[in-house]
Amino acid sequence: MKYFLYARKSTDEDDRQVLSIESQITELREFGEKEKLEIVDEYIESKTAKIPGRPIFNKMMERIENNDGYGILAWHPDRLARNSVDGGKIIYLVDSGKILGLKFPTFWFDCTPQGKFMLNIAFGQSKYYIDNLSENVKRGLRQKLRRGERPGLAPVGYLNELRQHTVVKDPERWQIIKKMFEAYATGNFTLEALQKMSFSLGLVSRRKSIPLTLGVIQEMLKNSTYYGVFVVKGEMYQGTHEPIISKQLFDKVQEVMKQKGKPVKPEKIKYFPFLKLLKCGECGRSITAEKKIKPSGKEYVYYRCTKKQRVCHQKYLEQREILKQFNEIIQKVALDDDTTNDFLRRWEKDNNEFSTKNSTDKTMLKMELKTLEEKQMNLLDTYLEKTITNEEYTAVKQKIINRKVEIKESLQDKGNNWLELFRQWILEANQAKNIAESENLEEKRSFLQKIGSDFRLAGQKVFWLWENPYKIVAENSGFLVTSG
Ligand SMILES: [Zn+2]
Repeated sequence: MKYFLYARKSTDEDDRQVLSIESQITELREFGEKEKLEIVDEYIESKTAKIPGRPIFNKMMERIENNDGYGILAWHPDRLARNSVDGGKIIYLVDSGKILGLKFPTFWFDCTPQGKFMLNIAFGQSKYYIDNLSENVKRGLRQKLRRGERPGLAPVGYLNELRQHTVVKDPERWQIIKKMFEAYATGNFTLEALQKMSFSLGLVSRRKSIPLTLGVIQEMLKNSTYYGVFVVKGEMYQGTHEPIISKQLFDKVQEVMKQKGKPVKPEKIKYFPFLKLLKCGECGRSITAEKKIKPSGKEYVYYRCTKKQRVCHQKYLEQREILKQFNEIIQKVALDDDTTNDFLRRWEKDNNEFSTKNSTDKTMLKMELKTLEEKQMNLLDTYLEKTITNEEYTAVKQKIINRKVEIKESLQDKGNNWLELFRQWILEANQAKNIAESENLEEKRSFLQKIGSDFRLAGQKVFWLWENPYKIVAENSGFLVTSG
């Protein structure tokens, strides 16, 4: 059977949720193909159907009246008619056999009294409009995906561009994201280290000026949006947005994450808390642990190199021995209370100075901004009075505008992330002594991950690298503690 395709969208207020004409046509052609309908002509209209008198609709109806044997394919009955005259006409033509079929992807119609009754309702009633709204929104989403428009809130490093319906690079943050991927890909960064790094570079969570959580950072590292594609409901789409990193870098990061995150059973971590912290200092392999019970009933935990497919000369080391060494390491960065208070006083002074300076700076900048705005007005006046040339005018204007942008950016600068990190660090270092003395092994492990990295076992000794700023304390340990 031959069908006319009819698509319509008006600029009506309540039509805004309906698919665009372009989307209607795509969906209808697809539907027609699937249903094996022979589409002989397409009628496209951008007028409301609330009142009779749409020229293109009328043209199509005229052709149907004068020729037998056509059907109409439309997105929904409400595309054909939303007033009783046009609706009645269609039903009349169906009744009299002039319209042989009506097909809608969103509405099931058959030529029975019940079918016609439903159709009548659909033509006039807003209830049907509302029922189909959610379906329409879903279809609209599919169209967007096809066009490469990433739906939803843009991930950190991108901003939603509302006019173009896409995401664009966040000029203030995208380079930080890139650095994070590059750092993680080296394999030398834990998520915690990445958190510190990104915070010191100025990356904070959307709502508060605090570091991104580890969970958010991990999700970021797995987000394919950064290399230009996106996944919705398990399906990948090529985005129209500009990538921040290459696919190659992304893949490398996934590999590192897989290596780092090799599943260790939760209870195993509970028994052997230092398992994932340590590597063999001779061959670089993972360390494994086991528990042994002596005939006396006493439990011993041993750590050793996995020695898989390679010769390695390292021997067992008992957990108590490792613990002793770890506690010594932790003690090295401990700040006693006097030193801590001294540091906090210094911090407070720095912070006050920073705030005062910051607010003085901002007052100055605001004044400069005002002056620049006056200058710009005067410049325009002189230009209009023709005392300067067009070239002179544009050159000076450009200078003024660039400076204005700079000032506005500085005014948005909120605080000093380094100072915040510093304070956090003082308080942590003050806790070190307690952590060294505590029995909580998991707490010890996570503190060790903060103060150092690359822990290795060799010759029954623990080797490691200090993380800043703990490195400074450790190297000046005696000096700092006695100076308080
Ligand atoms: Zn080894």
